[in-house]
Amino acid sequence: MPSFVIAGASLAGAKAAETLRDEGFDGEIVLVGAEPERPYERPPLSKGYLLGHEPRDSAFVHSEGWYAEHGVDLREGTTVTAIDRGTATVAVSGAGGDSELSYDRLLLATGASPRRLNFPGSDREEVLYLRTIADSGKLRSAFQPGTRVVVAGAGWIGLETTAAARTAECAVTVLEPQPGALHDQLGPELGAVFADLHRAHGVEFRFGEKAVEFRPGMVITSAGAEVPADILVVGIGAAPNDDLAARAGLETGNGVLTDEALRTSDPNIFAAGDVANSFHPLLGRRVRVEHWANALNGGPAAARSMLGQSVRYDPVPYFYSDQYDLGMECAGLPSPGTYDQVLYRGDRAALEFIAFWLSGGTVIAGMNVNVWDVNDDIQSLIRAARPVDPARLTNPDIPLTDL
Ligand SMILES: Cc1cc2nc3c(=O)[nH]c(=O)nc-3n(C[C@H](O)[C@H](O)[C@H](O)COP(=O)(O)OP(=O)(O)OC[C@H]3O[C@@H](n4cnc5c(N)ncnc54)[C@H](O)[C@@H]3O)c2cc1C
Repeated sequence: MPSFVIAGASLAGAKAAETLRDEGFDGEIVLVGAEPERPYERPPLSKGYLLGHEPRDSAFVHSEGWYAEHGVDLREGTTVTAIDRGTATVAVSGAGGDSELSYDRLLLATGASPRRLNFPGSDREEVLYLRTIADSGKLRSAFQPGTRVVVAGAGWIGLETTAAARTAECAVTVLEPQPGALHDQLGPELGAVFADLHRAHGVEFRFGEKAVEFRPGMVITSAGAEVPADILVVGIGAAPNDDLAARAGLETGNGVLTDEALRTSDPNIFAAGDVANSFHPLLGRRVRVEHWANALNGGPAAARSMLGQSVRYDPVPYFYSDQYDLGMECAGLPSPGTYDQVLYRGDRAALEFIAFWLSGGTVIAGMNVNVWDVNDDIQSLIRAARPVDPARLTNPDIPLTDL
């Protein structure tokens, strides 16, 4: 009986296992996860669960009984420590001790880990990160009215955490070495929208500054400022967990390199989710996308590829975020340098609009803010890759489908 092993039991890994069964695969599936939990989704950890609005159980990908019911051998609290491509085995280590698993196909869905700070005081217990459900629980307890919170990093994790901390009536200062919020993700134009939103909720930003030391009661910044802090929350990005692949001699570089079928440099090994740096046929280059939708869809695409089906994985990168009463969805990757124009449809000041990033007159990304049921149309515009008439693009009376 063929055996498929999945390293990493989170969204990408769990969805891959589900797809293998949906597609009729009746061989062995072993889903190996380092965390002591069954697979769960991370977006609630910086939103509903962190805010105390959603129960812990709502984060799980499947019910507790699903794995046994579908013949998926879920090994919680177990780490894949090495891959031997010569013998097609992986070494695993967990509560039951060390053992080996043979694989006919192997999926790497090992995700990413938060980048860590390393400076005087950075190992203190008041310095917190956010990746796991346990991390979110810790932050939730720490966010009490009046707690002084310094957030390192004005990226998505930093800003969603900031919104949760302010909602819990903490005092929040955000340190960000870039000149604005979400600078690398959205560029200055839309980054300013988010900075203004947080300022309106009483958040202080210190741009061009980063944390260089934590002392009890304060964070010292690179500008020499002493910012009062009971806790420091670090949200400075995540690095792919590709060490396992690199040690096995697979091609890596900012993640595990794959082709458009999510196949690595070894035809029996695949990669999906945050760890995969995959050739994207639409963009014409490799991208590593650290977004929920990429794990949700990439796991299943890799599973179909493992079954020998022809796969061309080319979704328009998609992301969503909720902060206070702002909800948004973003399609495309509008980092600075990839666009030359930003156009708006709707009311930017009232936070009800669509922003379009264009390059040479063509829409390369779009974000709907408190406007719904349009993201598929935005994705179609990006996919079409044709110049659009700016007057029609910005006219809310013309349906996006007419463009
Ligand atoms: C707090 C938070 C909020 C987020 N919010 C959003 C959002 O609003 N919208 C959005 O689009 N995206 C969001 N994301 C991103 C999204 O959650 C990730 O893209 C997604 O979790 C990636 O899933 P994954 O399965 O690829 O990897 P991960 O979720 O990183 O899971 C990988 C798993 O593999 C395990 N593992 C690693 N190495 C091994 C090994 N050697 N052996 C066994 N197991 C191993 C890890 O412990 C982990 O459990 C958020 C992320 C975080 C952390």
